[in-house]
Amino acid sequence: MFFIVGLKSRTKTVETGRFRCPNEGADRAYRHVRARRWFTLFFIPLIPLGTQGEWVRCDSCGAQYGPDVVHRHPAGRDPTRRG
Ligand SMILES: [Zn+2]
Repeated sequence: MFFIVGLKSRTKTVETGRFRCPNEGADRAYRHVRARRWFTLFFIPLIPLGTQGEWVRCDSCGAQYGPDVVHRHPAGRDPTRRG
């Protein structure tokens, strides 16, 4: 008998919302993604080994930013729109 073990990276969307994409200068939908490394047995992820990275991805243009971009560039502050 033998075991097939390995490591695998998986990404997961942890949050979605709207922000002002710095690349486009307009309000866009984003997804906050987290990548984790997993210990696998027979290709089944069993044990999470730690976070590899987190980023925010614009759904419109695909640009990627650090997770704090949604706080530095919140949606809904269009200076040309009042009320
Ligand atoms: Zn964008």
